[in-house]
Amino acid sequence: AIAKAEEYVHGVLSQVKTRFEHEHEFIQAIEEVFCSLIPLFAKEDHYIEQAILERIVEPERLVSFRVPWVDDDHNIQINRGFRVQFNSAIGPYKGGLRFHPSVNQSIIKFLGFEQIFKNSLTGQPIGAGKGGADFDPKGKSDQEIMRFCQSFMTELMKHIGPNTDVPAGDIGVGAREIGYMFGQYKRLRGMYEAGVLTGKDPVSGGSLGRKEATGYGTVYFVNEMITDKQLCFAGSRIVVSGSGNVSIYAMEKAMELGGQVIACSDSEGYVVDYNGICLETVKKLKENEGKRIREYIKHHPDAYFFEDGQGIWSVPCDIALPCATENELDEMAAKILVANGVKAVGEGANMPSTKEAVAVFQENQVLFAPGKAANAGGVAVSALEMAQNSMRLSWTAEEVDQRLQEIMKEIYKESKACALTYADQDNLVTGANIAGFKKVADTMIMQGV
Ligand code: GLU
Repeated sequence: AIAKAEEYVHGVLSQVKTRFEHEHEFIQAIEEVFCSLIPLFAKEDHYIEQAILERIVEPERLVSFRVPWVDDDHNIQINRGFRVQFNSAIGPYKGGLRFHPSVNQSIIKFLGFEQIFKNSLTGQPIGAGKGGADFDPKGKSDQEIMRFCQSFMTELMKHIGPNTDVPAGDIGVGAREIGYMFGQYKRLRGMYEAGVLTGKDPVSGGSLGRKEATGYGTVYFVNEMITDKQLCFAGSRIVVSGSGNVSIYAMEKAMELGGQVIACSDSEGYVVDYNGICLETVKKLKENEGKRIREYIKHHPDAYFFEDGQGIWSVPCDIALPCATENELDEMAAKILVANGVKAVGEGANMPSTKEAVAVFQENQVLFAPGKAANAGGVAVSALEMAQNSMRLSWTAEEVDQRLQEIMKEIYKESKACALTYADQDNLVTGANIAGFKKVADTMIMQGV
């Protein structure tokens, strides 16, 4: 049975590699998921007859569009926008929008593909989508951001709606951008459909606790995982890459649980502060002033700044939380972390560890929480935002946080149970992929070809 399952998976993978030849990140994400499904297919071979992998890799729909806008110097600028509507088996397409110069079709498809399993794991009725543009928000004025968001939504509005596709934020898209896009959607649609976007400001239909949800969720998940092995945040040294929305709230929750966060970063370099990172300073620099993390040492002269994005993994720690971006933690970084005694790694970002890095952690018994489980808190609270919008009411921050904690606990339990049932091992990568996949695949089969 194993041989048949292996043959099927590797057969589909080789088709995928030719078919999506230049889409490296997309292929990387597919390979990671498919290989971990082998134990499932060995036990339940009806998935093979149903050609489920061939079906699941092809997005239901992919739109790519022109985003023209005028900058402050009156020059016409053109960017490329995308929305992939990947899978609607269990609910309306759901997933963020990323504004970053690295955005291309491969990146959007990889993120949309991950979203299928992540959203399924949350237990909420949400399908999978992702979008964005190769627009660089860095250094743009507020007016430029607004004009870009309006132009982006002028096209996107034709493809979305509270019951079809519900975008949210991701890298480069926060409550401000969601606000501008929501305004444009409302203007063009002529209706107040609050549930068309999530991550809105709480004063205009957003959920309390959404901003904190991804980072808090990551720490809640890692906490479940380490508690299971008699470890805890209290007294642990923590390194968190990034200093954006996910990173900031992962640091906040890790500190609340008694962890000592000693380093964080941005694309220019990383800061080490053995007195413990001062979150107030990071929030001031990153959330309010749009400054770079190198400025941190101006406020804290005892801290160090190193000009090297990847170098952060050479800071010895007990728990590492990669919360920046894909492939930020490679094999070499993983080996250094292991040599320095890391005990647990939790992915706040999407696919931050390379395949080789994950293998290093697993070979060395480092507890590893894969992103699609550990960072599902953001999209989970987005689903709670949709629910509140449908009911036209809002829950308290405590109520949202309570639900988030339960969801993250449930994801951990389910991932662990699936790993034990199907692969006879305590491997959360396998477990999360199988748990997320099964629900979507079973539903696709129920809904027919
Ligand atoms: N961009 C986040 C993610 O990767 C959140 C998506 C959402 O809230 O829809 O899951």
